[in-house]
Amino acid sequence: MASGRTHEAINLGVFAALAGGYAYARARSLADPTNLLFAPETLWAFVLSYLIGTFFITPDLDLAENRMRARNNWGLLGLLWVPYGALFSHRGLSHTWFVGPLTRLLYLVLLALALGWAASEIAPHFGYRVGFEAEVGESWPQLLVGSLAGYYLSQWLHLIADGIQPDHAWRRKGARTRGRKRRRRSPS
Ligand SMILES: [Zn+2]
Repeated sequence: MASGRTHEAINLGVFAALAGGYAYARARSLADPTNLLFAPETLWAFVLSYLIGTFFITPDLDLAENRMRARNNWGLLGLLWVPYGALFSHRGLSHTWFVGPLTRLLYLVLLALALGWAASEIAPHFGYRVGFEAEVGESWPQLLVGSLAGYYLSQWLHLIADGIQPDHAWRRKGARTRGRKRRRRSPS
């Protein structure tokens, strides 16, 4: 089972290969920037979310109730992931191919909403007013495609390195009765 450091190295290796492939395709005019997949917004969203998924939002955050690599990368904010680690058993739902990455996104959204709500409640007591605006503009399809692709790919590489197949969600049903957190001592 791969350690956090190994996961990061694998993801960065694949990233370098992808960057090389892209440079090659650009040089041969195979990657058309007017195509949604190769638009600059798509590529930047891909790169950013891929790196976030490599260093900050990994499947092993299901161990965040203990000190672990991705949580440490958040610094003090890593504490925000402790409830996620307490909620999800190691290599359980968090390590499934489609729902697993989604649980972390939903967790972040709920966290952001809770913090935003708290800020808007507390700020008036100090004479401030807090408002939230989102301005995505016309590039939203590129940003959506790029960030989903980058994030999911980073998570899938982790699962592949862990030796987890896409049908993990169905297979693990049999293993569930054998106890939660059984493998806590070997983070991978
Ligand atoms: Zn893992």
